[in-house]
Amino acid sequence: MIPNHLKRYHILMSYYGPQHWWPAESTFEMLIGAILTQNTAWKNVDLALKKLKPYLSPEKMEKLPPEKLAECIRSSGFYRLKTRRIRAFLAWYKDYDYRPEKVAAENGYALRKQLLAVYGIGKETADAMLVYAFGKPFFIADAYARRLFTRLGDQVPKKYEAVRKEVERCLPDDLRVYQEYHALIDVHAKSRCKETPMCQGCPFAEVCQASMYHSS
Ligand code: SF4
Repeated sequence: MIPNHLKRYHILMSYYGPQHWWPAESTFEMLIGAILTQNTAWKNVDLALKKLKPYLSPEKMEKLPPEKLAECIRSSGFYRLKTRRIRAFLAWYKDYDYRPEKVAAENGYALRKQLLAVYGIGKETADAMLVYAFGKPFFIADAYARRLFTRLGDQVPKKYEAVRKEVERCLPDDLRVYQEYHALIDVHAKSRCKETPMCQGCPFAEVCQASMYHSS
């Protein structure tokens, strides 16, 4: 049976309300945050972003010596690698004069291909940038989404692309839905559907295969 992602989206939305993601003060901060959050918890990204605050524009960051950039983002882990990734991303973004609206004018799939060709930009990071910075509806098939879908009883494909496409087949072509669905899954995974889930009172408790709180 094909999972009803739109129904799940509405259940999460009624339970948690709109999240208005991504947590950033500017598009550029969002883009840098998407790179920094690779393989680390958000609290470490937050610290790095605070240190980066004086340089949070592409023009300023471009001029920042790599050692200084690395020092600012140390808290986010893999900081030398992430320094290279940020600089590679900036080189790509510069071709669009650092203007998100110029990037957004491209076709979504063409843009995704370009982003995936940038050093250190994987599928999850590319999709986060597309959804939250460039206004393209792609589903971010991250570990939280896979864990939730598995617990709900889906036969979740192993490959990222297969999960993404499966969800996208079920959702309307509405950017807001994509932005909120990812944010709501993230909030649900952190507040309830954790490694050890807190199922009592969960909006999926009645239907979830992993719940101990079915009424029948
Ligand atoms: S019932 Fe439990 S396992 Fe299922 S979605 Fe809710 S918190 Fe997660």
